[in-house]
Amino acid sequence: MELKNLADILADQPSFRLKQIKQLIFKDLIADWSLATTLPKDLREQLKQNFDLTINAELNFSGQNQTSKALVTFNDESKIETVLMSHADNRHTICVSCQVGCPMGCAFCATGKLGLKRNLTSWEIVLQVLLFARYLKEKEQKVTNVVFMGMGEPMNNFANVIEAIETLHDPDGFNLGARHFSISTCGLIPGIEKLSNYSLEVNLAISLHAPNNQLRSELMPVNNAFPLEKLLAAVDSYIKKTNRKVMFEYLLIDGVNDTIENAKELAVLMKKPLYFVNLIVYNPTGNFKPSSSGRVKKFKEILEKSGVDVTQRYSFGQDIKAACGQLAGKQ
Ligand code: SAH
Ligand code: SF4
Repeated sequence: MELKNLADILADQPSFRLKQIKQLIFKDLIADWSLATTLPKDLREQLKQNFDLTINAELNFSGQNQTSKALVTFNDESKIETVLMSHADNRHTICVSCQVGCPMGCAFCATGKLGLKRNLTSWEIVLQVLLFARYLKEKEQKVTNVVFMGMGEPMNNFANVIEAIETLHDPDGFNLGARHFSISTCGLIPGIEKLSNYSLEVNLAISLHAPNNQLRSELMPVNNAFPLEKLLAAVDSYIKKTNRKVMFEYLLIDGVNDTIENAKELAVLMKKPLYFVNLIVYNPTGNFKPSSSGRVKKFKEILEKSGVDVTQRYSFGQDIKAACGQLAGKQ
């Protein structure tokens, strides 16, 4: 089922219906067509049969309660995870999944271990946002950001990711501004190129995680096809076209990519206008260990002293395995 199926269902309805229905789904955030009492009864029945609004999800709350993780089960029994991160300033970021599993096989990532089961449809991506939007509505809060940093590689399911963004961006519907979306990629250059020609100004993040080809290829097989120099050239032409900042995510893994040498090497690559580095302390998934806090501090200092724009990501929800790279679609 997709949002465009609505057009068929509404074929013999007056033209204002589509807008009215979008309002019910994306603004009133109804989860059940029985609540759509403004609609004629027969249409409500038809929608109940053909356009399901229910989401089969189990919610888990982190101890600190800033993070909730939902385990979502789709009709074919595929399971994915979606995370809500709530900040003190009333920002609420949803970290959505775009694939069941992921084909990219990064060595440090729990999702990568699953391989690719299938792509999510755009509606399945949208439903993840609606799930938490409904939950937040009860607290008189709203979703403010959507990041494609859950399970899967967005550039590997590009069309559905873009369709989901357009659905959520639609002013008649959810009405989330383009700049409130972020797409994170392991570095699939064709996707970066497509995004640079895309009309909406969404944010781009690159999972870098290593400052040279040898190490990056060991950690991320995608680097064999799209090595660093080509990746950074693609980012540079993205920046030239869009004039937008690009975030480089760099996981700090103990003894793997966190040496002083690594920091210096990274600093050389990252000292460019509109580049910024986001350091992420590794969330254990089995193979590796996170860098010590002393090492993280040192690493960050080297980048700062070299004039690189760098921040450190606060990690949410480790206690419920809702942190980056820990999503594996199981309890
Ligand atoms: N496939 C995309 C988006 C999903 S991964 C990508 O790779 O960018 C989202 C982020 O979590 C990426 O930066 C990814 O590298 C990071 N990540 C993966 N495993 C992690 C782990 N164990 N701890 C912390 N971050 C991790
Ligand atoms: Fe896939 Fe991203 Fe995990 Fe790599 S880090 S395996 S691209 S989800």
